[in-house]
Amino acid sequence: MSRVVVLGGGIAGESFVAALAREAPDADVTLVERELVGGECSYWACIPSKTLLRPVELAAAVARTPGVSGARIDPEGVFAWRDAIAGGGDASQVKWVENLGAAFVRGHAEIAEPGLVRVGGRELSYDHLLVATGSDPAVPPLEGIEDVRPWTSRDATSASEVPERLLVVGGGAVGCELAQLYARLGSEVALVQSGATLLDRIDADAGALLAECLAEDGVEVRTGTRPSAVETAGGRVRLLCDGDGAGAGELEGTEVLLAVGRRPRVEGYGLERVGVELERNAVKTDDRLAAADGVWAAGDVTGKALFTHVGKYQARIAAANIALLEDDRGAIPPYDAIVLVGARLAREQPQALAVLASLEGAIDGDQMRRMNLAVDQGGRSPAEVAREFLRRLRSR
Ligand SMILES: Cc1cc2nc3c(=O)[nH]c(=O)nc-3n(C[C@H](O)[C@H](O)[C@H](O)COP(=O)(O)OP(=O)(O)OC[C@H]3O[C@@H](n4cnc5c(N)ncnc54)[C@H](O)[C@@H]3O)c2cc1C
Repeated sequence: MSRVVVLGGGIAGESFVAALAREAPDADVTLVERELVGGECSYWACIPSKTLLRPVELAAAVARTPGVSGARIDPEGVFAWRDAIAGGGDASQVKWVENLGAAFVRGHAEIAEPGLVRVGGRELSYDHLLVATGSDPAVPPLEGIEDVRPWTSRDATSASEVPERLLVVGGGAVGCELAQLYARLGSEVALVQSGATLLDRIDADAGALLAECLAEDGVEVRTGTRPSAVETAGGRVRLLCDGDGAGAGELEGTEVLLAVGRRPRVEGYGLERVGVELERNAVKTDDRLAAADGVWAAGDVTGKALFTHVGKYQARIAAANIALLEDDRGAIPPYDAIVLVGARLAREQPQALAVLASLEGAIDGDQMRRMNLAVDQGGRSPAEVAREFLRRLRSR
């Protein structure tokens, strides 16, 4: 029976434990989490952000719909609803993990040597280790940033007050959704984006459309504008912006939110002791999610398409591979498969499009043919096609 230790109980770690319970029920699994089981998505990212966005989305729909009027936003009620959905601790998730047959340890894990993890004074031996330590918000190199206490996405999703004037740095998905949220809750919002368009990793048309939508919500959008310095004075924060267009100059607000991407958590827990390599500051894996001998990785820490659904998918692949190694069943599901699933779903689900865009070029035509990706859609929905593909994948 293999001993498996999981570093990090976010979405990727949790999904891995669940997948391993199905694929290798005899494995002896221990999940280590230093904060809350459920991780970023459950308490500070996907769940609270979408919970906060829902009431203001409904109010905006009422305002646009002929024949109804008068939706009034009550920020206190919106924040209380967020707390009801995303607050309350992780007791139920810890129980869920334990019901899957895994042991749970709360604390900061450190890899002591190959095959051994330490959590406080406790030692955990492993045959397989999953690294699922997630990511932290990136901090841009702004002069004066160390003297300012900027908001990160965590502050924005756990706030209980609406800032008078919010300056958002970054026009990716997180910056845009939080700018819209606070504008609709009543803040004056300005958003600064160094790229020429919003969502500049996806598609210029989508970015332009989103800029129009944000402008309708009252957000001042400055694209092609790079902040160079930040300072506080008299309870206000000032952002100095470079650029040759209209965006250059100074912006003043009561809070500044940094939303310029995320950095995989790769430091401070001994990855170097087990031969894990880094690539663009993320854990480097092969297409089966193996990072080193007996070491696997999944989720944001791999630096590939930092989304919940990608982390879950990677976790299932890593678990399947460990199980396949165990009983020598041979075939190993390719990680590249996500590109196809993304392609099929893209038509209906914009988020899948983002996954596809970020993995574009990850596989070439030959690989696609080898993987038998030429699935005939035959009038079926993308979801049906994706299911068919996964069925084929499992039977390989
Ligand atoms: C505002 C916002 C909104 C988002 N919305 C969406 C969305 O709508 N849809 C979507 O798909 N994605 C969304 N995302 C992205 C999504 O939140 C992440 O991709 C996902 O949460 C990553 O999961 P993870 O398990 O890789 O990492 P995490 O959730 O960060 O989990 C890693 C865990 O490891 C623990 N840990 C780290 N180091 C150690 C250690 N040494 N010992 C013990 N424990 C450790 C941490 O405490 C943490 O709980 C959003 C992100 C943000 C910021």
